[in-house]
Amino acid sequence: MNLKTPGLYIHIPFCLSKCLYCDFYSLTSISAAPGFLDALFKEMEMYRTRFNPFDTVHIGGGTPSLLSPQQLENILIRVRENFNLISNPEITIETNPADLNRSFLESMRENGINRINIGVQSFDEKVLGFLGRRHSVKQAISAVEASRKARFHNLGVDLIYGVPDQDMGSWLDTLKQATVLSPEHISCYQLTLEAKTPLGIRYQAGEFSMPGEELQHEFFMKTSEFLEDAGYIHYEVSNFARGKEHTSRHNQKYWDHSPFLGLGPSAHSFQYNQRWWNHRSLDQYLAAINAGNLPVEETETLTMEQLRLEALYLGLRTKKGIFLQDFENQYHYDLFTEKKKILTRLEEEGFISIQDGYLYPTQTGFAVADSLSLI
Ligand code: SF4
Repeated sequence: MNLKTPGLYIHIPFCLSKCLYCDFYSLTSISAAPGFLDALFKEMEMYRTRFNPFDTVHIGGGTPSLLSPQQLENILIRVRENFNLISNPEITIETNPADLNRSFLESMRENGINRINIGVQSFDEKVLGFLGRRHSVKQAISAVEASRKARFHNLGVDLIYGVPDQDMGSWLDTLKQATVLSPEHISCYQLTLEAKTPLGIRYQAGEFSMPGEELQHEFFMKTSEFLEDAGYIHYEVSNFARGKEHTSRHNQKYWDHSPFLGLGPSAHSFQYNQRWWNHRSLDQYLAAINAGNLPVEETETLTMEQLRLEALYLGLRTKKGIFLQDFENQYHYDLFTEKKKILTRLEEEGFISIQDGYLYPTQTGFAVADSLSLI
């Protein structure tokens, strides 16, 4: 049985416009928001007793900052009515810089939201244009400043690197600007192009090329070096925190097989050895709920071997790595004995370290974390 504390994720499926690289489910009109919220509240009731208590609530999407202060307040009222939260939960909202003004931010704080994530993506206007973001560099800077004034003391920014034609200088300028604003958390994602997105289609048509493996590796290493020098802990392949207390408590749940409940279209959930996910389309989601059913599209039961491979893959993407004794207890597999030969070789080659019962990636190993898990 999994005794880790669960997290709650709520997917808000609306964006004002679609970014050109985005593969997440969202609609570009918020006219359906009232109907969606009614359904979301019914979905909460359906899960009332199945998970509890939560220590994180993550409102993501989509663009949750498109909702009104009243709608966000109602979500949090319903969360508290339907579920138990521990006394100091981490409550995060994902936002677009264009939506953030002082009074909206203050109302979020009053509703108990204590962590804000701002989708900045770049401090280079050209890159923002290429990605099809609907905000400017100036708006991104103002959004961070306004969040501080509204007493957000746990603030994260998301950035994207590896954009075609982006040179190292432009990326380092973006990182520099980010550190000047001094957020508690920085996520740096490498741009990946999904086939059906507008940028994916243009790429397949040969309109531009993507940075090669060597350059991507250089982006990764320089990012790590720059942010570590600026005082950030590189605690997961794509994530940096100013202190241990600023790491994302919610994301940790995805990396260590903690249970989580995902509500809203396309949201995924995990409990014990089961993973399930909701209908992606809002219409199907609403139809299921209005018929009194859970809006689940599919459920998957994971074997012990699948769980073990996932734990290895996810654990090796974190700086802390894998505590071998816990791994053995949870997945009935003595990783150290079973894979001794290959682990010794990887350690000799400088990709991993094994110390104090932990197996963890070195900086070099971090850069190739996904391949490491193939051991
Ligand atoms: S704001 Fe986020 S969810 Fe919406 S289209 Fe852009 S990347 Fe996708």
